[in-house]
Amino acid sequence: MGKALIIGCGGVASVAIHKCCQNSSVFEEICIASRTKEKCDALKEKLQGTTKTKITTAKVDADHVDELIALIQQVKPDVVLNLALPYQDLTIMDACLATKTNYVDTANYEPEDTAKFEYSWQWAYRERFEQAGITALLGSGFDPGVTGVFCAYALKHEFDEINYIDILDCNGGDHGYPFATNFNPEINIREVSAKGSYWEDGHWVETEPMEIKRVYNFEEVGEKDMYLLHHEEIESLALNMPGIKRIRFFMTFGQSYLTHLKCLENVGMTSIEPIMYEGREIVPLQFLKAVLPDPSTLGPRTKGKTNIGCIFRGKKDGKEKSYYLYNICDHQECYKEVGSQAVAYTTGVPAMIGAMMLMTGTWSRPGVHNIEEFDPDPFMDALNRWGLPWRESYEPVMVD
Ligand code: NDP
Repeated sequence: MGKALIIGCGGVASVAIHKCCQNSSVFEEICIASRTKEKCDALKEKLQGTTKTKITTAKVDADHVDELIALIQQVKPDVVLNLALPYQDLTIMDACLATKTNYVDTANYEPEDTAKFEYSWQWAYRERFEQAGITALLGSGFDPGVTGVFCAYALKHEFDEINYIDILDCNGGDHGYPFATNFNPEINIREVSAKGSYWEDGHWVETEPMEIKRVYNFEEVGEKDMYLLHHEEIESLALNMPGIKRIRFFMTFGQSYLTHLKCLENVGMTSIEPIMYEGREIVPLQFLKAVLPDPSTLGPRTKGKTNIGCIFRGKKDGKEKSYYLYNICDHQECYKEVGSQAVAYTTGVPAMIGAMMLMTGTWSRPGVHNIEEFDPDPFMDALNRWGLPWRESYEPVMVD
């Protein structure tokens, strides 16, 4: 079918690359390009011989548009799958525009020096992508990603109007460390230490970090504390779900994680303000990342399951209705299959599927689009086929 250029070779990329290699009829060729080329070469070494997909590697600093343009011109991919960090979204989109290449990512742009993420920067490319005749698919991970596909599916098949959405992200896995993050520590800690917020009656309601707590009993995981966070898909879903009254996002955290985080915050280790240390400038959070376990090494030690999904309340044929769509994923099963824990797996699989939707032309709509704007059905089928089967319940326990 075609060729993909994958930028980044960390925890999420490793899973997406394994999955592309399982799907060789679509991904006939992939080029893995990242800042540290040795990681790309090591992965190529591991996968070569197990797949029909032809793998090449390259070194690129995705902060530089010129380097990216040269690489895209050399590789000539049908799609660029951005699995580097949110800081690189705009430079990669610029390079895709210059070379008229389709674009997919899993996280919205965030400036490195401000802990703030929102879609405005990427939505500003809409007209230019449309005029260039190329598609940018934003947020094709799990959350954002599958959660948006779940919303589009629920709206298409189960409701006339959805009024309330609660997105519940539960990681019931245990890696045995007192403190570690399941994806890039810098991005993760920026996200969870920010103020919380939710969308209600047409506006944002802001909360203090971790101010709103609920307890929920997750299937195959058990009872967990979960906390309301700001999360990027709320912003696009608030626009794309007609009749919506409230959208909230909750993530589970254990007490040990929260105690460590509070302590690190209190001593200034989560700050992104540069400080001078022995004559050179360092960012405390980046230093902290360097001493924390690399999430891509958590695979062999993480046991337990994730359970992530959306609970909907709305109307069908004039009657009130509730509905729950979710996926349960087992850390050890993921490790056996692709050598990664379930948080990387649940992000990397939808990233491959999003790229596949564009490569095959199943989704094609020039412009810059969030995932819930596309027909959810082929993506939902692909989730079942590629390792993230979904489940549904018509009598979910609601969150108060
Ligand atoms: P990692 O830190 O494990 O990997 C990031 C990769 O990007 C590394 O290979 C890194 O290279 C590379 N990289 C960083 N900067 C550059 C650059 N300037 N040029 C080229 N390559 C670069 O992160 P994760 O795999 O955990 O996360 C990847 C993305 O997935 C993030 O954007 C994250 O926010 C997103 N994510 C999305 C989720 C979702 O559900 N939607 C859930 C989890 C994560 P190097 O090896 O040199 O450091």
